[in-house]
Amino acid sequence: MKKKKQHRGRWAPFVLLVTVAVLVIAAIVAVSVLVFGGSKTAPESTTAATTTQTDATQSQTESTQPETTTAPETTTEPETTAATTKPATSANVTGNAAQGDVSVGSLVLVNADHLYSFPDVEKVHMTSDTGYTMAYDTLYMNKECYTAFQSMCADFSAKYPQGDLLVISGFRTYQRQKELFQNSVAKNGSYEAARKWTALPGASDHHTGYAFDFSLDYEGDGIYSWIRENCYRYGFVVRFEASKSAITGISNEPWHFRYVGVPHAYYMMQNNLCLEEYIDLLYDYPEDGQHLTFTYEDGTEYEVYYVKGTDLSDVKKPAGNYTISGNNIDGFIVTIAK
Ligand SMILES: [Zn+2]
Repeated sequence: MKKKKQHRGRWAPFVLLVTVAVLVIAAIVAVSVLVFGGSKTAPESTTAATTTQTDATQSQTESTQPETTTAPETTTEPETTAATTKPATSANVTGNAAQGDVSVGSLVLVNADHLYSFPDVEKVHMTSDTGYTMAYDTLYMNKECYTAFQSMCADFSAKYPQGDLLVISGFRTYQRQKELFQNSVAKNGSYEAARKWTALPGASDHHTGYAFDFSLDYEGDGIYSWIRENCYRYGFVVRFEASKSAITGISNEPWHFRYVGVPHAYYMMQNNLCLEEYIDLLYDYPEDGQHLTFTYEDGTEYEVYYVKGTDLSDVKKPAGNYTISGNNIDGFIVTIAK
């Protein structure tokens, strides 16, 4: 014992020195972690940084955020650069259904029951033009939809030069919708409240490239009621009406327009049908049964019917002027113009 005591006493100053040195090094390491390690994790806690359309690259830092949705992850999510160059392979088949995919075409129904599979279809980069301005320079749209959109805005501004149309949203990726939904949960207070205003990722009409939003304070009244009354002439419908919210699952959105093509927009408006109701109605008009027929205001007669199938080769091509679109469920809609 005595020897040990002496031994400890002799080495005590050295042990004390080492202990102090270790403590100092530990303190330096701790401060370093707080300063440098802390700055690395900071972006993940600032979700406000993802509230604009232009910050697609920042979204990559959010991969560690907890999932707030039950929607399954899709492996077919496109890159954040929306434009693709794959064209329709047949001039006679518009709506790009030539790829043989029921998720392709201007009549695809995308909602919480029918998620989108993000087929590789061409989209064009939007630029400000006659009658409208853009909130962001990174907006994309399906080409067919974009042409109709530009025509509608030009005609509106010719009639109402004082008009001020601002487009804030076009095509959206899965990742972008995921960010918007997370923001909506934060803004509206709960998952259920968010669902009334914001589609789940994979379930957004914007995924199709056939939809766009004017600014969210756009009510479609005053001079803008012209757009609501005439949009069918360009192939558009107001996608989410208050009266249809029980069917669409989305509350009133007067600013959200969806391209479905002129004859279909006309028929939907005439018969007060939302897209869910129209696609459902078309099951009553199968290929081998009575077809839906109606006459557009310019005298063109349209014949519309449903064909069950998963590939365009399942569809017997009719004679004459026709278009084919998938319904994003289980088949195709054939439209013949006479
Ligand atoms: Zn929208």
